[in-house]
Amino acid sequence: MQSGPHHGGGGARTSTGALPLIDVRDVSRRFAMGGETIAALDGVSFSVARGEYVAIIGTSGSGKSTLMNILGCLDVPSAGVYALGGQDVRSLDDDALSALRNREIGFIFQSFQLLPRQTALANVELPLVYRGVSVRKRRELAQQALERVGLGHRLSHKPNELSGGQRQRVSIARALVTEPSLLLADEPTGNLDSTTGREILELFRVLHAAGNTILLVTHEPSIAAACPRRIRLSDGRVAEDVVQDLKQAEAARLGATQAGEAQVGGALEGEVRA
Ligand code: ADP
Ligand code: MG
Repeated sequence: MQSGPHHGGGGARTSTGALPLIDVRDVSRRFAMGGETIAALDGVSFSVARGEYVAIIGTSGSGKSTLMNILGCLDVPSAGVYALGGQDVRSLDDDALSALRNREIGFIFQSFQLLPRQTALANVELPLVYRGVSVRKRRELAQQALERVGLGHRLSHKPNELSGGQRQRVSIARALVTEPSLLLADEPTGNLDSTTGREILELFRVLHAAGNTILLVTHEPSIAAACPRRIRLSDGRVAEDVVQDLKQAEAARLGATQAGEAQVGGALEGEVRA
């Protein structure tokens, strides 16, 4: 069942009238700690259409990871409704939730979460093992996913034989290999130096341009400024939800830094090179 009465705000459908991929209505998540209850999320509502690229920002403790865990079906709300692809996750038992997660979601973590003794190829194959894909097929798909992230030449390397940026690429390949509806990345550049971080963000930009739906948690304002939409959490609530015109933002940024030279053409060229 959908939460009909809550849909009056117009969140149930996206601007194009399509059903949203993600629909979050009045979601709260409370944790009991000793005698106290912590509301990590407190009445969060928003929806995301297929193909969107959204930055989730907010200070430490504002509820970003709690939200991502719910969106990724690793956790469920204490109250409110989360529907993924029109399906209310409360209607699913643990097995059905795992199946939905394996089918629809690719998770990318700050700490990569790779199996240390396994090769890049084996790490990327893992979600396909759970799906019962044949050895031959999963090897082929994993190799393709690693090629997509620029690691076709590192198939038999283990995590400790790869740089931080390469490890994150392996984890992105693992997220992509099942062709999920949704990529969820929780501080994916948090353990990387700024140059490597920018390369990973460039990869997300390419994946978005290829049609992937991406939600990316970050606490870096410059990263959020490069995303088409930004949702800011504060004390477990949505404090801001804005769609930004990136060309205009880039032109304004260049205008501020190189007064008199703020041509949009230059801004676009700069973006391609960056
Ligand atoms: P963020 O990712 O934005 O830093 P979190 O979602 O991790 O924030 O946490 C939000 C709040 O919820 C914090 O106050 C945190 O301490 C609390 N919290 C998160 N997970 C748990 C948990 N499993 N048990 C108790 N409190 C939690
Ligand atoms: Mg967090």
